[in-house]
Amino acid sequence: MLAKGDPIPLPLTMAAIFHTPGDAAGSDEYGRYDNPTWRAVEHMLAHLEGAPCVGFPSGMAAISAVFFALLKAGDRILLPADGYHATRALADRFLKPFGITYDVRPTSSFLDGGFDGYRLAFVETPANPGLDICDIAAVAEAAHRAGAILAVDNTTMTPFGQRPLDFGADIVIAADTKAPNGHSDVLFGHVASRNADIIAAVSGWREVSGAIPGPFEAWLVHRGLETLDVRFDRMCSSAEVLARRLQGHPAISGLRYPGLEGDPSHNLARAQMERFGFLISFVLDSEDKAEDFINNCALMQAATSFGGVHTSAERRAKRSDAVPPGFVRLSVGCEPVEELWQAIAASLDRLA
Ligand SMILES: *Cc1c(COP(=O)(O)O)cnc(C)c1O
Repeated sequence: MLAKGDPIPLPLTMAAIFHTPGDAAGSDEYGRYDNPTWRAVEHMLAHLEGAPCVGFPSGMAAISAVFFALLKAGDRILLPADGYHATRALADRFLKPFGITYDVRPTSSFLDGGFDGYRLAFVETPANPGLDICDIAAVAEAAHRAGAILAVDNTTMTPFGQRPLDFGADIVIAADTKAPNGHSDVLFGHVASRNADIIAAVSGWREVSGAIPGPFEAWLVHRGLETLDVRFDRMCSSAEVLARRLQGHPAISGLRYPGLEGDPSHNLARAQMERFGFLISFVLDSEDKAEDFINNCALMQAATSFGGVHTSAERRAKRSDAVPPGFVRLSVGCEPVEELWQAIAASLDRLA
């Protein structure tokens, strides 16, 4: 509750130290332990996730917290072969030397082979950038039966698009750098879980590793979250319109969008996603055509990342994803959809 005269927007608390005469118990003390602005953004995230949340300075810092706080030497983990590349790089370069081994599996057949012997299964659905999907409830059930925990990277969907904890996942991780902040001006991440031991472990990791978010970044994410619902709604609605119109365009092959009836992900998407998302992918004939399409489309920013208010696209072979040279990942923004379609169609028609 606000007192009369309090500011309506969230106050930003930039503080490394807090006034703590005598025993500091029950109050803020030091900026690596806690901060009122972190608490505000975590409170909002917890409301959206339906679970306690811990904020981190990036999506990768959130993923690192889960790995380093919950795994030990001798553990095996399972990662998506087609998910965000840095997650595999983290496991390969920094978990392996500590005696934690990993295997990879395609998202579309993640259940095949079961989960015996794994401590943790990690899925990303829809996977970035290929947009394949796996059945979260079925993976959670099989992983639990084998004694593994399930972490879901929900970055491509946000809590408005998909609620993995409701399907039995133990942990949700998200890069709030993307749609939750939504303005392409900050990196942030969070871990959500209904398991109090997991939350205690990752917040303990944050405190002693020092992987803490800045208060100003937390404040910006808090502001972004206030409009996530309306931005996400607009972006998904526009993506549905654009994907339908892109179908059958002569310059395009391999169009993927979970909302299209013919998409291999469609039935599962209907069952577990609230919306079909704002990412579309397709393949143009060559690297040159893909670059030409992206760089000469009015209203499209050539940029990595996704989920911002401005429509952007990237030729993902640039990021060493295992995709064809002309593979384009399109992140649909908040521009008026008819103007966006005119711009996209004009840029594609030149290539056909
Ligand atoms: C961007 C992204 C991340 C990493 O987030 P950062 O904030 O860049 O560290 C993790 N997972 C997925 C699916 C992403 O798209």
